[in-house]
Amino acid sequence: MTTTANDFDVLDDPTLLRTAAYVDGAWITDGESGSFAVDNPATGRAIAEVPALSADQVAEALDAAERAQAGWRALSAKERSKVLRRWFDLTETHADDLAHIIVLEQGKPLAEARAEVAYAASFIEWFAEEAKRVRGEIFDSPKASGRVVVLQEPVGVCVAVTPWNFPAAMITRKAAPALAAGCTMVVKPASQTPLTALALAELAERAGVPAGVLSVVTGKAREVGPVLTGSPIVRKISFTGSTEVGRQLLQESALTVKNASMELGGNAPILVFDDADIPTAVDGVLAAKFRNSGESCIGANRVYVQNGIYDEFAKAVAERTASLVVGSGLEDGVQIGPLIDEAAVEKVAEHIADATGGGATVLAGGGVHDRGGRFFAPTVLAEVAPTMLITREETFGPVLPLVRFEDEADVVRWANDTEFGLAAYLFTKDAERTWRVAAALEAGMVGINTGLISNEIAPFGGIKQSGLGREGSVHGIEEYLEMKYLAWEGAGTTQPDA
Ligand code: NAP
Repeated sequence: MTTTANDFDVLDDPTLLRTAAYVDGAWITDGESGSFAVDNPATGRAIAEVPALSADQVAEALDAAERAQAGWRALSAKERSKVLRRWFDLTETHADDLAHIIVLEQGKPLAEARAEVAYAASFIEWFAEEAKRVRGEIFDSPKASGRVVVLQEPVGVCVAVTPWNFPAAMITRKAAPALAAGCTMVVKPASQTPLTALALAELAERAGVPAGVLSVVTGKAREVGPVLTGSPIVRKISFTGSTEVGRQLLQESALTVKNASMELGGNAPILVFDDADIPTAVDGVLAAKFRNSGESCIGANRVYVQNGIYDEFAKAVAERTASLVVGSGLEDGVQIGPLIDEAAVEKVAEHIADATGGGATVLAGGGVHDRGGRFFAPTVLAEVAPTMLITREETFGPVLPLVRFEDEADVVRWANDTEFGLAAYLFTKDAERTWRVAAALEAGMVGINTGLISNEIAPFGGIKQSGLGREGSVHGIEEYLEMKYLAWEGAGTTQPDA
């Protein structure tokens, strides 16, 4: 398989660029279902060709994961932790190259790609540590002579299906806890961003992750997907992506009753109250909206601003938005990169057209950027109605719709009027309101006076149709563990005779 010359000259270590799938410790260049191109969203040009594995080749990766399972699980937690620690160290050492690969296939600005690599690495470091803290429980049983012993055991062979918007972090947030727990994993990265996944696999191999413990399969979702969801070998599926695909994977996995973690779509509301600190709220809203060019599941999709500060807030936000620098992720000072593909551009344009058609006004941007292609001008819309399409569907682009509100009860109702429940944000200096509104918001995560909520220590995940389970935090490893209860008769008989 090939890459286009020059695109990757920026890499210090060119051997990190892998264009072969990684199965059972071997690099597979021949896809039995052909190959597919990876393009650079900034130019639209193909930069690499990656194999499309057949169903049989994917099944081989699952067989390898099953073969590797016993040996990996038999290592002590400390030994697994050491391997993960080496993977973390290598990820840090090669952070700059990983960031460049992300920019080239995903499009985000280099500074954001570096931040993503640091975020991705933090999960490997965290779960290298958490591996050693898995522990069971022991209780007195109802009979004095017995004990209830609860062990925590690895779930077994796991698969991860991951999206293109955070091509490194969405993998390490799954693979690190899985491996820490003693599971093996087969990862299917998004077809738009396989190169980051393969570079991570290369580093895992160098770190000493044994063959079969972590494989990366590339291929067409409709061919790869059913093998992953249908195989009885697979005991767990962990998916990050759209709610629509998540539902389908859950349905398919039901036939073999797989354990499932789902990180799905969002429609995050931001509530800015009259008593908010306006500069803090402006910073927070811009961070929550324009990170990753708006292509983030926890990105602000709709911003509700209370009447008393609406005009001042809208003006400040529009000025800052208009000054954001749009360009290719490798250019100096760029803050907004291209969108992932033409369909993304069309969706954003459709949401803006629907809003302006209904009476919303454009305060900044409003359409495709002067650079053309997949570059979209960061946009602010004012006087958006709470019923418009842009407030109901995930826009996944750099558009900030401002909805005016007067009453706290109304805005909480509007915020919750969605099938999604991933993130929500509120800006206020009133402590009582903070508790009241945070409690009322139907979301798995609530940012309070901040637009940045993701880190490895916090439990990340959604409620309603935004998902099942949590990633990161002390709870993230629980997704890859199962309880086994031992009813131990006689274990309590060591007490001295009465
Ligand atoms: P997507 O279309 O759902 O795709 C996600 C992954 O699923 C890709 O690897 C894709 O493969 C694969 N896939 C698609 N159809 C499949 C099928 N029938 N069987 C098996 N695999 C299948 O989502 P996306 O466009 O990549 O990502 C954007 C979405 O992810 C947004 O909705 C966003 O909110 C969500 N997201 C959620 C979180 C979270 O933590 N909750 C984080 C990031 C993103 P191909 O690429 O080969 O089609």
